[in-house]
Amino acid sequence: MRTETDEQRLGSAPIGAPVLELDAVTKTYLTEPPVTALNGATFAVHRGELVAVVGPSGSGKSTLLHLMGTLDRPSAGTVRVTGLDIATLDDRDLARLRATRIGFVFQQFFLAEHETALDNVADGLLYTGLGVTERRARASEALTLVGLAHRAHARPTQLSGGERQRVAIARALAGRPAIVLADEPTGNLDSATGQSIVALLEELNAGGATIIVITHDRDLAARLPRTVEMLDGRIVSDTGPPATSFPEISPHMENADEDERAPSRARRLRPRDVGRVASIGLRTRRLRAALSALGIAIGVASIVAVLGLSSSSQSGLLSEIDRLGTNLLTVSNGQSFFGSASELSVAAPGMIRRIGPVTEVEYTGATKAKAYRSPFIPAINSNALSVVAASLGLPKTLATTVAQGRYLNAATARGPVAVLGAAAAQRLGIVRVFPGERIWVGGQWFYIAGILAPAVLTPEIDTSILVGFEAARTYLGFDGHPSTVYLRARTAQVAAVQSVLASTANPKAPNEVNVSQPSAALVARAKAQRAFNGLFLGLGAVALLVGAVGVANIMVISVLERRSEIGLRRALGATKGNVRAQFLNEAILLALLGGAFGVGAGALATAVYATTKGWAINIPAVAWLGGIGAALVIGAIAGLLPAIRAARMSPTEALRSA
Ligand code: ADP
Ligand code: MG
Repeated sequence: MRTETDEQRLGSAPIGAPVLELDAVTKTYLTEPPVTALNGATFAVHRGELVAVVGPSGSGKSTLLHLMGTLDRPSAGTVRVTGLDIATLDDRDLARLRATRIGFVFQQFFLAEHETALDNVADGLLYTGLGVTERRARASEALTLVGLAHRAHARPTQLSGGERQRVAIARALAGRPAIVLADEPTGNLDSATGQSIVALLEELNAGGATIIVITHDRDLAARLPRTVEMLDGRIVSDTGPPATSFPEISPHMENADEDERAPSRARRLRPRDVGRVASIGLRTRRLRAALSALGIAIGVASIVAVLGLSSSSQSGLLSEIDRLGTNLLTVSNGQSFFGSASELSVAAPGMIRRIGPVTEVEYTGATKAKAYRSPFIPAINSNALSVVAASLGLPKTLATTVAQGRYLNAATARGPVAVLGAAAAQRLGIVRVFPGERIWVGGQWFYIAGILAPAVLTPEIDTSILVGFEAARTYLGFDGHPSTVYLRARTAQVAAVQSVLASTANPKAPNEVNVSQPSAALVARAKAQRAFNGLFLGLGAVALLVGAVGVANIMVISVLERRSEIGLRRALGATKGNVRAQFLNEAILLALLGGAFGVGAGALATAVYATTKGWAINIPAVAWLGGIGAALVIGAIAGLLPAIRAARMSPTEALRSA
């Protein structure tokens, strides 16, 4: 990099070297019809000069200034800035040249309203590669130079027009440019303020700055040492450089050229600056940013919530299945070939117990008895409850517990004592077990010993009234045949056991036996949930797509609205790449913001719902990583086209549009 030498510092530049040379420069805009805005302009500006360019509107003054400032290339002829032929330089070289050797001042000031005067000036150095401390130091130096040190922390809206233009001039000076180009700097100011700005330019020139100022105010121009007059794209008069003769080419300039050739590439922005620049749109238009990020937030939230909820509920279901065990099998009597109920033999439970991997065997036998709260209830109101004889270890095998009272034991199984399934108790209106509480079963009072907790795997037990086998035989005319056998087998051998159960339970007619695995239904339910997810994920994806379109839309509008900012940045030395990155990053940032918010909202929804359901909260990494990743990709895609458009925008057109 070219190191700062004292000569380059404002106030000590040697007078005399040609900083700027135009040789037969023509600019034709290829509009319909084509406009030749500049026609064979030849002129040179030397170090230390103060030149006024005058001429009526449309005479090509701004075109001349843009060409001198390397914002545009000539159609014909040569432009040399500090000795460098700009035709030999690419976009990045030119950007570097503008960042370090040219300062621009515009009629419309182009100050960022959300930043203080100091930051506006410091940001003029954003593309020079200087660090923030150095930028600020130079900015406050430059503000002192224009007499605004005391207003450094004011925002542009708190400043008068003249003060704003002083800030803009400070921004142009802060880079210690070889030349300052001012396009009608007094155009938006009243004449007194305009006078003071011209006085400031004179003062700065006296301090060593080389300045070219466009004005259509002839009185102002007349004050300045040299006046160039333009008409219809031609230089019609030039009072020429002051009588003092300048040395032809100073050795200093040649040296500068040597130095400049290799390291003249534009600098990358520092990461912190990248973030700051990318977030301008978000900071200055918060509501708009929030609304456009909302679409993405909704999409990501729904995806995270769907995945989180299904995973939480599934893990709830799976842990439930785990607790209940998948090794419970049931054998029940089916129908005979002729359609009559085929009964299991009394020996069936014993035979099943002899299968090796079977660890527990319990059974029930259906009776024909009906149960009522009292004898006065009409027989028809049976509540769809069944009265079954049950073996003594049943609750444990079914993985249920006794909610109240106690289960049947060897003694109570012989007497008129019943235990109620959870649903049966509810239907009979029995909430608590009181001593002496009884119900009317099969024309007989049965005392209630206890109430079971719900048996999730075997809902038929919930609607049953359980009595002992002995009691059923004694009081209910039960024949003693089991109708359902419940067994647990070693988990690894469940399938093997299942395959021999029918023939073991009923060797003569194995096809008249129903064998089932109750947990299979729960497992199927867990799987079905996953299939259901597809639908909601699809909806989430649609929301994301809508969000992406929203972000793209906002970015397109933003690029159009911020044309003058883009033009200014290019004038300050931003490359096309800088501009492209700025808008691309902004879109990504916007989408990421939506994504992060969406992940938060989706996680919160999952947490709230899972908590009310008593599930463990489980948000899979794929959900939130995927959400953030999707937002990133969407931002990049949505921002790409607007960013490319912003980068392609010609700086001169961008500046003209203001
Ligand atoms: P001045 O600054 O003296 O008012 P300009 O240099 O802005 O004049 O414009 C000179 C002529 O070139 C005008 O006729 C203007 O319409 C035309 N012109 C300037 N810039 C462009 C452009 N980017 N595209 C097409 N025509 C342009
Ligand atoms: Mg103009």
